[in-house]
Parts: sequence; structure tokens; C-alpha cells
Amino acid sequence: MPCLGGALLAGDKPDEASSLLSELHNGQVLTVLRIDNTCAPISFDLGAAEEQLQTWGIQVPVDQYRSLAESALLEPQVRRYIIYNSRPVRLAFAVVFYVVVWANIYSTSQMFALGSHWAGVLLVTLAAVSLTLTLVLVFERHQRKANTNTDLRLAAANGALLRHRVLLGVTDTVEGCQSVIQLWFVYFDLESCVQFLTDHVREMKISQESLLRSRLSQLCVVMETGVSPAAPAEEPDNLEETPLLPSSPDPSERPLMQTELYQLVPEAEPEEMARQLVAVFGGYYIRLLVTSQLPQAMGTRHTDSPMVPCPCQLIEAHILGTECCPFLAR
Ligand SMILES: [Zn+2]
Repeated sequence: MPCLGGALLAGDKPDEASSLLSELHNGQVLTVLRIDNTCAPISFDLGAAEEQLQTWGIQVPVDQYRSLAESALLEPQVRRYIIYNSRPVRLAFAVVFYVVVWANIYSTSQMFALGSHWAGVLLVTLAAVSLTLTLVLVFERHQRKANTNTDLRLAAANGALLRHRVLLGVTDTVEGCQSVIQLWFVYFDLESCVQFLTDHVREMKISQESLLRSRLSQLCVVMETGVSPAAPAEEPDNLEETPLLPSSPDPSERPLMQTELYQLVPEAEPEEMARQLVAVFGGYYIRLLVTSQLPQAMGTRHTDSPMVPCPCQLIEAHILGTECCPFLAR
């Protein structure tokens, strides 16, 4: 039986829990939490997930990742982003785009005396369809990339869950007119992937350090932080002159916002960098896995299914490979 790492077995029935754990295979969905994406404050029922994981013999204290997962996905701006990027909204946008483009090209064609001849109308329709299809393909391609607003925000939660052999991923769907967020808990023993990536990073540090640096520099997010201007605290000479009510804040004294580039995989020991890479790509990998979008031609390295590539293959193909293209550049 493989080493159990940080996963804790259910204490009262260790044999039963061990047998359940040994039945699990990499990529197996343990449970899915669903939540209606409404305007009201919402929270995941992580207690239900904890119970479900315990039935598999995996005990993960909710406190270890609750704030990380909820702050990553349930902030109002992230929930709005999920709604605006849902498939029905994109479809509606494509329909509006098609109508506008068709009308524009048709009205332009009138100036060139094409009139309403059927060939002219057909030409206009073909042009509008091809432009709309291009737009839809751009949207689809964009969706396949690691999503800074959802996938990468799960990096901290996945970093905490790695040692429990659990990865989180998020998808969204629409049921009726209601947007629904789905949080996936998937079993993954990542030690083999981490070992492969550790060796890969160590090798690149020796022979291709500049390439490694340039690739990892793509894995960054822009963060906005507040900076309070350092105002000297001056005691007034005469306390009687001190106003009883605080004066309205001077606009120039409001906290200034500054943007910083935060590197998701900073320079560290190879093993630490490998674990961070897996944590950063964990959400993206799970989203592609549960929506059957993983490339199948790659074969497999550390999963049980020969058609499903494992996380280290995805990371190697997109970031660490010698011929890969800029991936997360926006
Ligand atoms: Zn692997």
C-alpha cells in the first residue's frame, strides 16, 4: 500500500478506512458541492463535504481550507464574473453580435448597389456567420486557459489540500435561469507528479535557468494593495482649538492603491516549487478533468486511465516544456 502522506484515516475503523482509501484512484470524484449563485450572501456547505470525504476514509478539517476556498470563489466580483462568463450569456452576446454585424454589412452593401439580390444577401449572411464563429471560437479558446478569476484563486486552498490527496476545482452551470457554482473534490495522490516536477525543475535550474525563469514569470497575478500615506501625528499646541468632530478626510489623505505583480511560483527549492506548481495548476486541471477537456493524445504518466494525462504532464506541456507557448500571458 502506498504511503499515506498527510491523509488521516477515520480513527475508529482504520482497517475499513484503509480498504476504502486503497479503492480510490487518481482523478476519482469524491463529492461535488453545488450552490446557487444569487445576489444574497452565500457559503459552501463544507460540513457536508467533510462528512462525504470521511466516508472514503479521508479526514480533512474544514478549518484548513474554508476561508481559502470561500474567499477565492464567493466574493461578489468573482460571482458576477462567473455569471457574465457563463455559456448562455456568451451565447446571447454572440446572437446580438451576429444581428448587429449582419445589419451593418447589409447596410454597407446597399451603398455598393448590391441591392437585395439573393446572392448579395447570402454573401452578407456568410460574412456575418464567419465573423460570429470567429468570436465564438475565441471565447472557447479563452475558456480553456487557466482562469485567473476562478482556477488560480484556488491555488491556496489546493496547496493546503495537497497532503490530504484532494484537489479542488470549480465549474459553473446554468439550471433554468439560475447560475450554479459547482465545487469539485477529486482524489489525487500527487507524490509521483511532485517527484517528476522536482527532478524537472532541478534539471532546468542547472541547464536552462533563464528559460525556467521566463516561463515562471508568466505565472503571476496583478494585486492591488492599499497604501496609507504616512501622516505625521502632530499634537496641537492648544487643546481648546481641537475640533470636537473629526473633519472630513482630505481626498489627498485617502489610502492610495498600488498594483503589484505577484509571482505565483517564486524562486525556492525545487521540491517547494514543484508543490507550488501543482497547487497553482490544480484548479485548472480539475476543471478540464471533470469537463472532459483534457487533451487525450498525451497518454498518461501517473493516472490509472491511459487516456487521461496527469497534472505533471499538463504542467510540463504548458509551462516547463521546451516548445510550449506562452500560456497564461494576458
Ligand atoms: Zn504526473
